Amino acid sequence: MKLLDGKIVADLVQKEIQKELSRELSGMQPRPPCLVALLTTDDPASLHYVKRKVHACHEVGITSRVIQCNPKETKELLELIDSLNEDVSVDGILIQLPLPLHVNLSQVLQRVDPRKDVDGFHPINVGKMFLGDPDAFYPCTPLGIKVLLEYYKIDVSTKHVVIVGRSNIVGKPLACMLMQNAPGCNATVTVAHRHTTNLQEICLAADVIVSAVGKPNLITADMVKPGAVVVDVGITKVADANTKSGFKLVGDVDYRAVSQKVSAITPVPGGVGPMTIAMLLKNTLKSFYLHR
Ligand code: NAD
Repeated sequence: MKLLDGKIVADLVQKEIQKELSRELSGMQPRPPCLVALLTTDDPASLHYVKRKVHACHEVGITSRVIQCNPKETKELLELIDSLNEDVSVDGILIQLPLPLHVNLSQVLQRVDPRKDVDGFHPINVGKMFLGDPDAFYPCTPLGIKVLLEYYKIDVSTKHVVIVGRSNIVGKPLACMLMQNAPGCNATVTVAHRHTTNLQEICLAADVIVSAVGKPNLITADMVKPGAVVVDVGITKVADANTKSGFKLVGDVDYRAVSQKVSAITPVPGGVGPMTIAMLLKNTLKSFYLHR
């Protein structure tokens, strides 16, 4: 069984970015890339994710700024985004999700300049991704999964990939990316979701299963074909008296039993998570080149 170690691959991607930036910045480049993260809640998980992103930026030589705000209405956030869109010193804008319930998510995502949309959530980038346009900003988690599979030479072409979960940030874009007529793609994709009635049967037919749900032990060994590849995107915090913090992070997959059956599997943590951050850095570099 091969462990698809996202930390190793993310470190390699980060080192490449770091090298590229030190080369660029020793030349005529007047400033490093700049990412601004908008944080609209004091939710500890969101704070934690933003901290990790800021830290990763720092490691590779990307400057970053976190704007923490508490918008009373959508308009406030839209005005802030307008000012960041106009600011020539800002390359990438990241809106940390979830937003407060009273804020209109779709208006906010549509307000970000598509050339600064490092999350790849603006409809223009979603449309370009749908068309297979390489100029699009691709969403970080599905892009990270694709890069991880490529690194470990897992070719999805001609394979049946079952994606469990159809969110706009993971399941749907991943399905769209893997079914493209392009190198590293050409998969036959099935997308399952909460209304799918025969999940076990569908998963058993998969060469590759990607689970992006957020339910521990959703994917059990009796749902997985021997020799399949399993990518676990789920992250859930569960109580664990054996850890110092009193909790641990788990994925959607019953890792212990499933890892006995598969040819390759991602761990949680240390699988898709680090890849997501590495792809954010890559997208920020891409936005930087668009603005110089
Ligand atoms: P979401 O809540 O937006 O979507 C969950 C999806 O799961 C929905 O499409 C729903 O239909 C489906 N679902 C729910 N119950 C199901 C069931 N019993 N059977 C089949 N499908 C079911 O979630 P999301 O934002 O896509 O995130 C999913 C998980 O991935 C979460 O645990 C999240 O924390 C994690 N995540 C991890 C990363 C990372 O970088 N590792 C990035 C994004 C999300």
